[in-house]
Amino acid sequence: MSTAANDVVIVGAGIVGAACADEFARRGMRVAIVDRDVVGSGATAAGMGHIVVMDDSEAQFALTRYSQQLWQALRPELPEDVEYEQCGTIWVAADEDEMAEVRRKHEYYAGRGVPTKVLDAPALRQLEPNLRDGMAGGLLVTGDAVVYPPCAARLLMERAQKHGAEIRLGAAVTEIGQGRVRLADGAEITGKMIVNAAGAWAPELTGGVEIKKRKGHLVITDRYPGFLRHQLVELGYLKSAHSVTSDSVAFNVQPRRTGQILIGSSRQYGAEHKEVDQPMLTRMLRRAQDYMPGLGAMSAIRTWTGFRAATPDKLPLIGPWPGDKTLFLATGHEGLGITTSLATAKLLVDQIAGTKPEIPVAAYLPSRAGKEFVHA
Ligand SMILES: Cc1cc2nc3c(=O)[nH]c(=O)nc-3n(C[C@H](O)[C@H](O)[C@H](O)COP(=O)(O)OP(=O)(O)OC[C@H]3O[C@@H](n4cnc5c(N)ncnc54)[C@H](O)[C@@H]3O)c2cc1C
Repeated sequence: MSTAANDVVIVGAGIVGAACADEFARRGMRVAIVDRDVVGSGATAAGMGHIVVMDDSEAQFALTRYSQQLWQALRPELPEDVEYEQCGTIWVAADEDEMAEVRRKHEYYAGRGVPTKVLDAPALRQLEPNLRDGMAGGLLVTGDAVVYPPCAARLLMERAQKHGAEIRLGAAVTEIGQGRVRLADGAEITGKMIVNAAGAWAPELTGGVEIKKRKGHLVITDRYPGFLRHQLVELGYLKSAHSVTSDSVAFNVQPRRTGQILIGSSRQYGAEHKEVDQPMLTRMLRRAQDYMPGLGAMSAIRTWTGFRAATPDKLPLIGPWPGDKTLFLATGHEGLGITTSLATAKLLVDQIAGTKPEIPVAAYLPSRAGKEFVHA
């Protein structure tokens, strides 16, 4: 890689950095991207790959919806190994209280053009016969999909490279800012702009970025074709994902193209080590078996953990970092960075290129929370 000035230097070759590299390069900018490991080795390798529209807030809805549409547009170009499957999500309601949430969600999505179908108990049983008896129903969101994140990141990186982006792997970055990226070996890469896309590690490079690591566990089973047809998520997931303090687990299972079943999910703050936390794993698997007893008889072939990059207001940081005109952030995507990577790239490049963004960007700007949130 040349050390001559680039238009942009991106730190972090996860799915967000890769999507940004692709978008910058396709708009004609000279791009360099650096990672201390390989492409998609951070949270991207650990993620579930659910491409999902969410409605926690209007800003979250706008970003997830926009990005899902970008994934749908990209679909014809996705090679087999990205394993894009539009399997749909079923939000599973365990009781009548959760059915009220199903109806609220249905109204919300219908009002914004997202196709959904309310399922009563027999309809749910017909679509997913391996759920336990006694479920109240659910909400089917047909446009949701799944991908295999590491291959999706690799594809985006290859597209960027075809448009001239240079990539340097195995190169740890120790310092960024004022148009410079300093590597652990002392080398320096310069750029008119620097993008911190280092995921949960972004605060190590940009002091004051308010991101906490939120650890998650996943388990993948052997092949059981036909056991599961949709991504199933308990409606209680919304409560656990939204808690900003406590540890939590939720029933969240995904059918893979191979016939394997990906079982999630857990959320923990303050657990900085990568090792599997046995009590948390046990809690997560018990929750999964509460919903799908048949999972208990399956063989698990691998268990792993990853770190989500969680911001205080549960929205990502996309845009300029106050105090350094050369520095931009593309991080803080918590459990939605696979979904929102493509929209993040568009919104960041729109801000830099001065082109009109498809959706308003104010909710994602790093400066949004004022001085309490941003300490430049
Ligand atoms: C268990 C789990 C399940 C998930 N499920 C989903 C899901 O179903 N759908 C969804 O949309 N999202 C999901 N996510 C979230 C998603 O995986 C992340 O939001 C997304 O991968 C973030 O991508 P990123 O590129 O920002 O970060 P990362 O993939 O973490 O990439 C950051 C990169 O920066 C590099 N880096 C860091 N520091 C340095 C340094 N100093 N020098 C050089 N390089 C550095 C790292 O090596 C890494 O490659 C899940 C996450 C977890 C943990």
